[in-house]
Amino acid sequence: MTMPFGEICGQDRAVLLLRRAWAGGRLAQAYCFAGPPGAGKRTTALALAQAVNCLAPATAGPAPDACGTCRSCRRIAAGQHPDVILVTPQEKTVITIEQVRDLAARANLRAYEGNVKVWILDPADQMQEPAANAFLKTLEEPAGRSLFILVTTAFTALLATIRSRCQEVRFDPLGDEALRTILMRHGRSAEDVAAVLPLAGGNAERALGLDVVEERARQERVVAETWGALGSVPALLEQAERIGKDRATLEAALEILLGFTRDLAVFRVGESSRRLLPTDRLAAGGRAAAGIPLSATLKIHEAQAEARRRLAVNAQPRFTAERMLLKMREAMEEKVGGPA
Ligand SMILES: [Zn+2]
Repeated sequence: MTMPFGEICGQDRAVLLLRRAWAGGRLAQAYCFAGPPGAGKRTTALALAQAVNCLAPATAGPAPDACGTCRSCRRIAAGQHPDVILVTPQEKTVITIEQVRDLAARANLRAYEGNVKVWILDPADQMQEPAANAFLKTLEEPAGRSLFILVTTAFTALLATIRSRCQEVRFDPLGDEALRTILMRHGRSAEDVAAVLPLAGGNAERALGLDVVEERARQERVVAETWGALGSVPALLEQAERIGKDRATLEAALEILLGFTRDLAVFRVGESSRRLLPTDRLAAGGRAAAGIPLSATLKIHEAQAEARRRLAVNAQPRFTAERMLLKMREAMEEKVGGPA
């Protein structure tokens, strides 16, 4: 195992803030890690728990970190450290007042073996009001050496009184590079990464959960159905109904279509750029690109990009899909009629 903070991808700002506060002995008593799902909030909470309880921490130097290998670090990573307690909703619904009372009673006891008791409440916004009020009391009367980490995707859903007692640490959606690193670390191939990246929405959990084989089949289906429908207006309207059935469906379809059109353009631009495409996408792009000149490809890309812009300002999904498909058809007809 390597260094816990050092392993976290794509959250440099949040991690640096925590590393500095920890190494400088300036940690707050309660933090709220807020940001979109799958961005690494819980991983970072565990890294911080390892840091404060590590038996051989590296606190000097530019990148202070827990060792990741001592007994304490290993037990925290395995979820078996008695002083690092994860509080999650029971039966996947809410964090109950009983759970918080238990937390309050145990926060008063001395830590078993670590230096600091760490409570990770995830998701903290799933505390019902009585539970939240009980938790607030615990925050107001700090007991022993406890560190509270509230994890949430909805910071404003927490009670204002709780928010004001926590230091907020913001997490951003993961960028493509960070996601790529995480996926590769989990043994995904470059082709697999290329297939799931456009659909992950900066969410590592979602990216890891996507079934690559199924996902590729779905992408191929959307591409084939869409291009197949450009030949006739009734087919085109039917396809608009399918991909424009709601906002989320159209957003997902647009990601796929834009990715495919980019591949087409790359294929058209020249040999050297083709190396950028994974082999299976190169094959598919090559087949489809055979009859489509670059000018038409760019018009198609513009129609799709425009649809995405319109959707972002709440255009009606089905109408947006129709308009895009008609423009794609126009671009294709020009290609048949005009010079290639
Ligand atoms: Zn350690």
